[in-house]
Amino acid sequence: VSMTSREIREAFLAFFEDKGHQIVPSAPVVVKNDPTLMFTNAGMNQFKDIFLGDARATYPRVADTQRCLRVSGKHNDLEEVGIDTYHHTLFEMLGNWSFGDYFKKEAIAWGWELLTEVYKLDKDRLYVTVFEGDDVDGLPKDEEAYGFWKGLIAEERILLGNKKDNFWEMGDTGPCGPCSEIHVDCRPDAERNAVDGSMLVNADHPQVIEIWNLVFMQFNRQKDGSLKPLPAKHVDTGMGFERLVRVIQGKASNYDTDVFQPIIGFIAEKAGVRYGHDEQTDIAMRVMADHIRAISFAIADGQLPSNNKAGYVIRRILRRAVRYAYTFLQLKEPFLHKLVPLLAEQFKGVFNELIAQQDFVQKVVLEEEQSFLRTLVTGVQRFEAYAAEHQTIAGEFAFELYDTFGFPIDLTELLAKEKTLNVDMVGFQQALETQKSRSRAATAVDTDDWVVLQGTETVDFVGYDGLESETEIIKYRKV
Ligand code: ATP
Ligand code: MG
Ligand code: MG
Ligand code: MG
Repeated sequence: VSMTSREIREAFLAFFEDKGHQIVPSAPVVVKNDPTLMFTNAGMNQFKDIFLGDARATYPRVADTQRCLRVSGKHNDLEEVGIDTYHHTLFEMLGNWSFGDYFKKEAIAWGWELLTEVYKLDKDRLYVTVFEGDDVDGLPKDEEAYGFWKGLIAEERILLGNKKDNFWEMGDTGPCGPCSEIHVDCRPDAERNAVDGSMLVNADHPQVIEIWNLVFMQFNRQKDGSLKPLPAKHVDTGMGFERLVRVIQGKASNYDTDVFQPIIGFIAEKAGVRYGHDEQTDIAMRVMADHIRAISFAIADGQLPSNNKAGYVIRRILRRAVRYAYTFLQLKEPFLHKLVPLLAEQFKGVFNELIAQQDFVQKVVLEEEQSFLRTLVTGVQRFEAYAAEHQTIAGEFAFELYDTFGFPIDLTELLAKEKTLNVDMVGFQQALETQKSRSRAATAVDTDDWVVLQGTETVDFVGYDGLESETEIIKYRKV
């Protein structure tokens, strides 16, 4: 079928509304008052208290599109973004939920119906995964889910998966259960005939991608690690909207869909390049088109760029985009802020928060760009002075530029090349590793979806460090 991204989103919500779901608004992407989570990273976040039994559900069935950000903690996709074609910083997660209402049978049947009958995806390109069981936990294979899938899809397309991919847990304790994921093989026929797609599921293949995760919460993990059945069982699903659009529109990359093309087209025109002609400029355009979404919604939802915690994460994303623009597209003047009105228009009627605050968001982005570009210029001057007196660029110096002036190593290499100087990459990597291991040792929280606290135990934020460096050091102490 040929559908625009807008139509695809609307069809999802209409489908589940028709199945008795209440359509609810997206929660903000910025999470306040939760020391264990900075940003919304899944559709279920706003329903956490219901799953923990601390709140009652207003509706037994809901559906929505949730804006999510995966740039910190357990889910941190930032380094992939722009390089690959299907991980974003900010993305929409389409979801449907049952709070103690329907369970596996309906969740699986409806997911299949939506994909194959409404969106008309080719059944021969779909794979589903089912939890294989785990001896350590004494968990059996998810025979129920397997049985329901068997009635819908050829058995060789049902794959068994381990705890890592097919068992979801909220934290060290709390609700958990097996999940079933749906993957799509988007490779051309010739490639599909040559290599069996089942081998490529969950193997980071750019054309064999996961689109939907159906989680069946049926256990409660106790403090001693044992599992107790939940009195009320829940369904929690999440489907990546941009990936779904890419599959339906038959594109090889999320960035080739109508979600990203208008923005990329605008960047390409202003930078005087063409998209799809050079890998390096393409990556730069993808990074910019992606990051402006994360930055804009973070600001609209109340998180300004700053030098600490969530604000620093946003500042780093913004700087990453500026660096790519500066280095690979020769955009040396503030540019990103010009993309804000395009985005606001695109999300009109979906997430109106952006259009409501468009001018403010644009102003904040512009000021950030101006100040970071000044830092970049100062760094370039430092580089010039250093280059005048040295035969090679020492690793330590490259690291200083990286750490203090936010210079990616690419930029330093580029500047060095212009002067036919070499960069000591081994020395740079060593300095980088030293810093990384220092910060790894200090990161204690935000590694799981949540740290679920027990009894009177609370987590106390102690401090942070390394403010102007790439790596934020956060120290938490359990009290
Ligand atoms: P992947 O294995 O591709 O990283 P995931 O298993 O981490 O995905 P889930 O936590 O199961 O993803 O989230 C549900 C759905 O959200 C995924 O099936 C995928 O379609 C989508 N999704 C997850 N991460 C991203 C991302 N960074 N950008 C875009 N979509 C995403
Ligand atoms: Mg992931
Ligand atoms: Mg996965
Ligand atoms: Mg998944």
